[in-house]
Amino acid sequence: MRNIVSILVFVGLICGVFYIVTPKPQKNLYDPGVYCAFCDPKVLEAQTFYEDDLVRALYTHKPIYPGHCLIITKRHVPRFEGLTEQEASQMMQTIKKVNTAVQKVFDTSAYLLLQKNGYEVGQTVPHVHFHYIPRKAGDDSEIAFIGRMFYSTIESPLPPQEMREMVTELHDAMLAD
Ligand SMILES: [Zn+2]
Repeated sequence: MRNIVSILVFVGLICGVFYIVTPKPQKNLYDPGVYCAFCDPKVLEAQTFYEDDLVRALYTHKPIYPGHCLIITKRHVPRFEGLTEQEASQMMQTIKKVNTAVQKVFDTSAYLLLQKNGYEVGQTVPHVHFHYIPRKAGDDSEIAFIGRMFYSTIESPLPPQEMREMVTELHDAMLAD
């Protein structure tokens, strides 16, 4: 019996290694059938704290740091080069407003803007979005940052109550600006 289990574990390991090293067919991120979280009314309803006629600002469900927001277009645009001049301009204006609000609510001093175009650079949602990732004064460890970037992807999403609180606080801070 033990021999059979050992053989099964061994075969399992070989299959696992084979799976990892085998090149996968490239996923077509921009296939119209691919799910888009930023066109999902449930996501937008739960996470949006600001909108104008072309752009929305959302609180992310898995923050790398408290205050991590997403600035997206209302229209489904897969990549940055597909934005109209007006959409690009309003996204930039919204990022500035979000920055003021996040600094006020989370007492942060610095921020990283991250925007990906293509599966090869890690784009997972086929809809233009800027990550606004803030940090507090003195919190300058790059190792901690890389650790948080990795860990946040495997963390559980924010509980709905916490998400509601964040959305309300940021919504109020955007109005106060
Ligand atoms: Zn979309």
